[in-house]
This record gives sequence, structure tokens and C-alpha cells, in this order.
Amino acid sequence: MTLKIYFYPKVFGCGVQEYFFTLRFFFTAMEVFYTVQSLTKKIKQLKQEGFKIGFVPTMGALHQGHVSLVYLSQKEGNKTIVSIFVNPTQFNDKKDLARYPRNLEKDIEILKNNECDLVFAPDEKEIYPEPDNRIFEFGTLASVMEGKFRPGHFNGVAQVVSRLFDIVKPDTAYFGNKDFQQLAIVREMVRITNSPVKITGCPIVREADGLAMSSRNALLETNYRKEAPFIYQTLKKATLEHKEKNISEIKKWVIETIEANGILKVEYFDIVDKNSLISLQTWPEKDTCIGCIAVFAGKIRLIDNIDFES
Ligand code: AMP
Repeated sequence: MTLKIYFYPKVFGCGVQEYFFTLRFFFTAMEVFYTVQSLTKKIKQLKQEGFKIGFVPTMGALHQGHVSLVYLSQKEGNKTIVSIFVNPTQFNDKKDLARYPRNLEKDIEILKNNECDLVFAPDEKEIYPEPDNRIFEFGTLASVMEGKFRPGHFNGVAQVVSRLFDIVKPDTAYFGNKDFQQLAIVREMVRITNSPVKITGCPIVREADGLAMSSRNALLETNYRKEAPFIYQTLKKATLEHKEKNISEIKKWVIETIEANGILKVEYFDIVDKNSLISLQTWPEKDTCIGCIAVFAGKIRLIDNIDFES
């Protein structure tokens, strides 16, 4: 529960001076859990009291993109729980795992100030008391784009999300469209495991210059940070002009335009069917396609996507 009191005493002197004070008192009762056992007890209690549980799984280094998911869960009337866990099984590149930004204290502060009810910040032993050897079969959904360039990534995502769902037992879980393929994988995991969790996709939150917010943005060196918004700006332009070009021309144009100044390197850009993620050769008649991109800005890998409307 967060109680906010805004206090605005106004003092008028000689009719011209106004003193304006704002006092804010935040009485926050957000709770932080580090163990499965303590969280399980709390969730059981909340369910008995009739609360719906809204769940936002994250890897921390929180920004407004994450916060937007918390707000949506709150808006829908849930007790909202955010997990913060950098999941090792989804990192195919161990250097990426080592440099992934971590700042639990700051994350807790952000959540405290943004209406979150519960935080779950387990260590690896809590999530994986034993090695998780499960292999999920996602077919094409996991073999294209991110799946092609990050082998094993989505199996790791499915492992951690299913484990977290088992612990948190949410009614609804919130995921960002920013990781569009991940969202498709989670929906498929829920389908094949007959999980009762409702999955809600949420819009991409961007910086003022268009760059999709990401925990990895903090790792960008100045020159790369300056160029990175060009990714979204190019995607946006492509959607405005796409009717005059065919799909392969648009794909070529996007890659060449982004790489033109020699700073950014595109790993892939594809235009795919939103449901099957199969690469398209011709524009579909309905609004069912999305352009997905991965770009290296130096050592930092950024992803983004955009709808192509018919
Ligand atoms: P991460 O901590 O990167 O694993 O992200 C946790 C959740 O936040 C995922 O569902 C992401 O898709 C979502 N997310 C990350 N960045 C954004 C963003 N810029 N806008 C909306 N959602 C985001």
C-alpha cells in the first residue's frame, strides 16, 4: 500500500507573493522476499484473502519499460509482484551474463516508488535447487531470429518463466512487446503446459529519441548511445514507405541504412508473420506482420521491433 499526502499551503503577502510548498510523505509497505518458502506463504495468504496476483518477471536494472508493466498490473486491480533474477540458463554468451547490469538496491527503490506490492529477489539456488534439464519443443518459434542467433536462449527463458509461475502462481503475467519473440514463446509454453496463467503483452516504452528502453542501454558507450536511436528511426521510416517497395527491398534498405555510417552492425532484420514468426516474402493482406531487428552497438546487442500495417 502506498499512501501519498500532498500538502500545498499558500501564503499571500501584499497580494503578490505566493509561497508554494509541497510535502510528500510516502508510507510504503512493499515487501521484499528472498526465498521461495517465505514468498509461497505470502502468496497463499493473499489468495485466501481473495486477491488476484499480477506478475512481472524481470532481470532487474529496472527502467520505465518495466515500470509500465507494474502500472498495468496495478490498473487491472492485482496485488503486483515483480521478480528480479538474472537467469543464467538463458544466456548463451557468458560474457553477456557477466556484464549484465545489477543493482538490487536501486531496483527496490524504484519499485517502492512505483506502486509495487511485492518483490521476489531470489538467488540461483532458490530458482534451481537442482539443474533444470527440461527441453521445450517450440518448433519455428524458437529457431528463427533470436533463436537462430542465441541458441538455447528460449529454452532457458521457458525454464525460468515456468519455474517462476510455479512459485508465484499468478493470475496474470505481464510481458513487454519489446521482446516480441519471447512473448510468443511464453504464450506457447503456457499453451503446451496447460498453464492457467493469462499472458498480457504490453507496449514498448521508448526514450524521447525513440530508442527502446533496455537494461543494456546503460552499457552503451557515448558514441554508440548517440547512434542507437537511428535503429528505431529507420524502422519507423520503413513502415511509412513500405507500400512502394517489396519485402526484400525493404529488408535490404533497413540493413543498409542502419549500417551506412559504419557504427552499428545489424545481426538480422526480418519481417515475419506475427503468430507463426515465419519470414514473409510478400506483404500480407491483413495487419499480421512485424519487423524484428537485432543490432550490435559495439559489444552491446540491442533488439527492437515494429508493426507493418497493411
Ligand atoms: P528484462 O528485465 O529485460 O528481462 O525485461 C523484463 C520484462 O520487461 C520483459 O517482459 C520485457 O519485454 C519488458 N520490457 C523490457 N524493456 C521494455 C520496454 N522498453 N518497454 C516495455 N517492456 C519492456
